[in-house]
Formats: sequence, structure tokens, C-alpha cells
Amino acid sequence: MTPRKLISAAKSWPADATPVKLGTAINRRSFLKTASVAGATLALGSWSWPRPAAAGTAAAPAPPPSWVDKPMRWAQLTLVEDDPGKFDPQFWLDYFKRTRSDAVCLSAGGCVAYYPTKVPFHHRSAWLGERDVFGELVAGCRKLGMVVIARTDPHATYDDVQAAHPDWIAADAAGKPRRHWASPEMWVTCALGPYNFEFMTEVKKEIMSRYKVDAIFINRWDGSGMCFCEHCRRTFRQAAGYELPHTSNPQDPARRAYILWSQQRLFDLWRLWDAEVRKLNPDSCVIPNTGGGATSSLDMQRIGELAPTLIADRQARRGLTVPWANGKNGKEFRATMGRKPIVGIFSVGVEEPYRWKDSVQSEAEIRLWVADGVANGLRPWFTKFSGVLHDERWLKPVEEIYQRYARWEKYLRNERPLARVGLVYSQQTAWFHGSRAEDHTLGWYQALIEARLPFEMVHDRLLDAAHLGPFKSLILPNIAALSESQCAQLRAFVERGGGLIATFETSLYDQWGVKRNEFGLADLFGVTFKGGTDGPMQNSYLRLETDPVTDRRHPLLAGLEDAQRIINGVRRVQVEPTLPLTHSPLTLIPSYPDLPMEKVYPRGSKSEVPQVYLRESGTGRVVYFPWDIDRTFWEVLAVDHFKLLRNAVTWVTNEEPPVTVTGPGVLDVTAWQQKTSLTVHLVNLTNPMMMKGPVRELIPVGPQEVRVCLPEGMRPKKVRLLAVEKSLRVERSGRYLRVSVPSILDHEVVAVDF
Ligand SMILES: [Zn+2]
Repeated sequence: MTPRKLISAAKSWPADATPVKLGTAINRRSFLKTASVAGATLALGSWSWPRPAAAGTAAAPAPPPSWVDKPMRWAQLTLVEDDPGKFDPQFWLDYFKRTRSDAVCLSAGGCVAYYPTKVPFHHRSAWLGERDVFGELVAGCRKLGMVVIARTDPHATYDDVQAAHPDWIAADAAGKPRRHWASPEMWVTCALGPYNFEFMTEVKKEIMSRYKVDAIFINRWDGSGMCFCEHCRRTFRQAAGYELPHTSNPQDPARRAYILWSQQRLFDLWRLWDAEVRKLNPDSCVIPNTGGGATSSLDMQRIGELAPTLIADRQARRGLTVPWANGKNGKEFRATMGRKPIVGIFSVGVEEPYRWKDSVQSEAEIRLWVADGVANGLRPWFTKFSGVLHDERWLKPVEEIYQRYARWEKYLRNERPLARVGLVYSQQTAWFHGSRAEDHTLGWYQALIEARLPFEMVHDRLLDAAHLGPFKSLILPNIAALSESQCAQLRAFVERGGGLIATFETSLYDQWGVKRNEFGLADLFGVTFKGGTDGPMQNSYLRLETDPVTDRRHPLLAGLEDAQRIINGVRRVQVEPTLPLTHSPLTLIPSYPDLPMEKVYPRGSKSEVPQVYLRESGTGRVVYFPWDIDRTFWEVLAVDHFKLLRNAVTWVTNEEPPVTVTGPGVLDVTAWQQKTSLTVHLVNLTNPMMMKGPVRELIPVGPQEVRVCLPEGMRPKKVRLLAVEKSLRVERSGRYLRVSVPSILDHEVVAVDF
């Protein structure tokens, strides 16, 4: 699919999903109006999803600045207030050059101004004197030919601001102004009122008019928790007809309205800032630091429409975060950004709740984190706080990483991923259904990594034929909240020959998280909902069945030939088949006591309750697991569950994968096409600490046999390994190439030029 198609298709939002009745308080109102500066009005008598422009005007997103696709390696220097006069700007300019960084984000203003600002209440660094530190750095970076963007951060301010404009300060639930949690001499600002809409607009205009930077990056712009200030109370009441909610229950009408209203305010703010900076420099934009996966609070579909480029801010692990988390972020952003450049921030430090901002991480961990992002389409962006370095150990590894990616640049300018499997994520499920939806996704993510299957993530509001075009199969990891029209889109996908896997409560709720009497996808699953859910189940199992007609086991059970039973999940939805079943490969062995040990024996006769439903519908295939196989896998990581997950994907996809990689270890495998080449990335996650983020050393793994299916009409000229810089002997048969990769340390790329 062309990028143009992706972008235009992104605008279509299922028709039946637009209006929602939010309760009588709203329905009685003849119209709703937000009190935003942009003056956006919302739909009559009902709420719609946040819109990037005033309702009724189909304002096209502003054109992308001409530079956005150029940078491949970003640097960020976030100054601290006492840097001016202390740090050496030339040191950083030299480092940017050595790392071959082609874009940079530099601290300009907001919390602290690093230039002689004239905006009232814009706090100059107390160490600035008559200098213009920001301006000096901008000039130096320009000389290096870099794209230069200015960093602003509006989330905290000072006593003089609070005294003069008490209404600019965020208020807690009791209405009290909030001190800053980490710097208690400061105040937290309100994101949705005049501090951002007026004051920060002036700051951005000043920076843009003085320095003509390529963009303004806005950190922490969307509020620090809910604000109960006078502006938020009044504008919400005017817009929604409710007082600000004191509950987090999304089924509370005020809460639900708040989820939508706060997003609308932020999109209005974004549009305002973007329009104002473009008036001063038409080839610029603002880049709000925003976005993510299902649990992200701002609508990714709208973000994907508005942003010409975005920065995926997952800087490092927290606690035991697995090392593929950075790549996941790339996939989540790409689901709505399409081919637009996505940049992945990595910090070089230990990212923990304890915020050791001046720390330096192990080299192995930095390398692996960045590698997984790059393999998943992210352009790297290193971030360092403080111009004065307290620990220099990161400098050399990052320099080496960047030089490597500079050498590989041609092969990192991806046109499209070759993945045929899509893993759906759903913000509406996270917002309105709640639950632990993400744990189901994480289970699938881990299983797909272990299965070495290239896959993409898919946003649940982009299920139209154009967006699903590249995919042969889709996975719905407990996507509980789905609208009728989303269900219709999924049905159409299967009718076109697609494969579909769904788990647990998928489609049992509508798009607003309201429970249905029947699955929205009951017909596809071939089941009916019996009204209840069992669990948590202790000591429950699944019997592996042989087809009584063919006397064979279904391919879903491949690799489990010697098993008679395996462990069950933890929760199951009660369902009954609506279509005749010859047999189900898995049947329920209900819970029985797990203590005292003398009582641990199965009760009753053999159950015939199926725990998987398989259907073929034309050329389409459907697998429905009525239990939480994916969530349980994420919790327990039982290999038997992994095999079922992998086999289900293989069976529903029902075609040769674009890439197969055979050999020892755990690899993240991704495959891409560029203008004149194709690449297979192999990121070596094999490590005694693989399921824990902390990595001490890189352990080479190999050999790996890589089999690649060439896109139609492509004739390979040469095949190389980019990391070890070697040409490869190739076996070719039909459209398939086979090469052997002797060993992978952290990140190897098989590059096929044509
Ligand atoms: Zn407020």
C-alpha cells in the first residue's frame, strides 16, 4: 500500500462508531461546545471521537515539513539550569559530528529559557547572564548540516507565575494548587488552560521567530494527572454537562466524557501550536511527545493523521521490561503512522522509578535496546540530560552504534515491512473496558518473537480493507471492545480469505465497553455466549484429542505428539458451539482439588467441553480460544501454550511465511523492503537474562539458516551480511533464497540488493 493510501484510509472511522450516548445529562443538551481557543464544536447531542479540527470542516492535516524524512540518527542534549557557562558546547558539537548525527533536539524554553527571552514570566536560566546558549548551539549544529529542533517543557513553573496567574496552576481533586512532586519549590501547570493555550504559545512563537528552527518538540505537554482547576471545571461542564469525575470507572458517564473531552482539548492545543509556528516558518511543525500502544491516553488514529513524524519515547527498560519492548513501540506507532518517519528515543541510563537521570547503563543493554528498535523501523535518538557529564562511559558505545547505522543507512530506509501477520491493539478496550488487556498482547508478542515470525501491529480502528491489505492473518488478543462495524470489517477480512485468531472475551463488549448478550463475532467463532466466565481456575487442564474420523491430530497440536494433556489457562468464557463440530482438538478437564494431596484426582467422567473452535470459511480460517491462553502465557510462559499459539498462527495464515529462520536461540526477526533492496534483521535476544531486561554481555548465537521469499519480479544481485560485512553464498530455488548466517552477536542484517 502506498503511503498516500495509508494516510487517506486513516480518515475513515467506522460509521456506526461515531456517536455515543453518554447519558441523559448530555442527551438533553441541544449542542455541545468546547471552550477552546480553536473554537472547535462537537457533534450535536452526542460525543464523537476527538477530532483534529472543528467538526464539519474536513481540514486536511498540514503538509509535512520538507526535512522530516531526512534524518536517520538523532541526538538530544537536554540542558540543566546551571549548564550555561559550565558546559562546553564545542564538546557536544564534536560528538554530534563523530556520531554522524544528522538531527538534534536542543533545550530552548518552557521551564527554563536558555536564550534571552522577552516573554513575561518565561524564566531565564539563573546562570545565563547575557549569553544565548541555545542560539550558539543552533548555529553550531546548522554548520554541521543538522536538522535542528527546539525542546520546550511546559509542565512546571515558579512562584512569581503562581502569584500573578494562580489559574495557570494545576489543582488537585480538592481544588488545591499542586506543588511539583520532585521540585517542591515549583508548581505543576494546568495543561488544558491558558498556561498552555496562551503563555506557551507565546514562548513557541518567540523561539520560532528568533531561530527559525525546523520544529518545536514539546515534552510533558499533556498534563501531570487530572487537573481540577477553575478552567478545567468550567470548560468541561460547558462541553459535557458534567462536573469533573472523581472516579476512574469508564462506565461512569462523566468519566467517559472526560476521556474524550481531555483528548479533544489536547488535539486543539496541538493544532493551535502547529498553526502558530507554521505562520512563522511554513516548513516547520510542532512535535508533541505523545503516543504509544493500547494503554496510551491519546487516540493513536488521530495522532497518526496529525503528526508528520513522531518520537516514540520508551527510553529503556523499567525493572524487568523485556528487551523487545523498544521494537514493540515502533510497531505500535507504525500501525497509525504508516510510512511516516518514527524516531525511537533511548536513554543511556538506568530508567527506574528512582530516576537516576545521570546514570549510565551497561553497553550490552544499550546496544540491544537500540538494535531492537532499529530492526523494527525506529530511527535512533539518544538523549542525554546535562551538558556537563558525570559519567562518560556511554559515549563510545553510542558512537559505535551510530557509525554502524550510518554505514547501513541505505538499508534502513524502509519502504514497507514484509510481515503477513497483524497483532491488533485496541485503545478503546483499554479506555472503556479496562481489564488487563495488555497482558494478552504481551503474551502474543512473546510467542511471535519465539516463533520468529515477522509481524506488525494493527490499530483496531484501521481495520478497513486498505489497511489490512498487507496481512494474511490477524490476531485479536482479548480485544473485548469492538463496534458492530469493526466486527463487520473483521468478517469481511475472513471472507476475503484472511485468517483470524481471537481469545477470551474478544467482541463481547461494544466499543464503549458495554457488555453484549452475545459476541459481536459469534458467527465467526461458531459459538454462543452462555452468560458467565469461570476463574481463576486452579489445577485445570486441557485434554488433547484425536479426530475420531481421521484418527489424526489437528496441526494445532504439532509438537505435542507425546502429550495427552497440558495445563489450562486461568479464566474461561462459558460458550457453546453453534455449528456442528466433528471434534475439538482441546477439551476441558475441569478444576479439581490441589490439596490435600490425597484428594488430587480428576472428578467425573470425560468432559466434552471444547476449549478451541476452529473454522474454515471459504479460504479464510478462524481459531477461537475461549480462555486466556495469551495472558496465561505471559504470566507462566509454559512452552505448551507457546506451541498452541504458534501453531494457531501457522494454521490460520495458511501460506509460506516471507522469512523463516532456523537455528538455536531467541531472535527478533523482521523483514523489510527498501527502494532497491530487501533486508532481514536478526536481533539476538538469546541471553540468560532474556526475560529480564538487565543484560550484562552479548552472547553470539548461530548458525542460522535464513530462507527468504523474494517479492514478485525481484532479481537479487548480491546478498550481504551488514554487521560482519561479508558477501554470502546463496542457494536459490524459485522465489526463495537460502543463506547461512554463521553467528549473530547483537544485530545482524541479511541485505539482498536488486
Ligand atoms: Zn486545569
